Amino acid sequence: MELADYIRNVADFPQSGITYKDITPLLGNADAFQEAVTRLSNPLAQLGIQKVVGIESRGFILGASLANRVGAGFVPIRKKGKLPFQTLQQEYNLEYGTDCLEIHRDAILPGEKVVIHDDVLATGGTAAAACELVQRLGGEVVQVSFLVELSFLNGKEKIKQHPIFSLVTF
Ligand code: AMP
Repeated sequence: MELADYIRNVADFPQSGITYKDITPLLGNADAFQEAVTRLSNPLAQLGIQKVVGIESRGFILGASLANRVGAGFVPIRKKGKLPFQTLQQEYNLEYGTDCLEIHRDAILPGEKVVIHDDVLATGGTAAAACELVQRLGGEVVQVSFLVELSFLNGKEKIKQHPIFSLVTF
């Protein structure tokens, strides 16, 4: 099955000049959804993963599915102000300005093996901030996984100290 066929390009969304990678056709197709979870989880089978971290918001969908498949817990990383309990915060740079991600302080125990998942790797700033949060809690980032990698933006550079796995590369 060619999973790239289920990822739709939407021109000029959310702003002019951006080609948005829309994963909803993949999620809406039962076979493609299942195949994506299988292919993302296969490399994790023997790694003894304790937590899968999903990045808000589309990273939650496959991240939670992945956690369930490999028998790990699921942990959300969210934009500032959304998580109810005590948090750790990590700022990161956007093209213009900064943004901030948060994780619950008790979400990961020191030494736990963690996979971080997001839908799209673009410039890598979001994933790098997520890696920082997990490491600050003492977690071991065993893999950073993506459904889609936009290789021309070279986001891998920002998380190169970690193993990276992308299902579909454009
Ligand atoms: P970045 O920090 O630049 O790697 O951006 C990654 C985050 O922005 C991910 O959470 C993606 O969901 C989102 N994102 C960035 N570029 C795109 C794109 N072209 N299509 C869909 N989502 C994107």
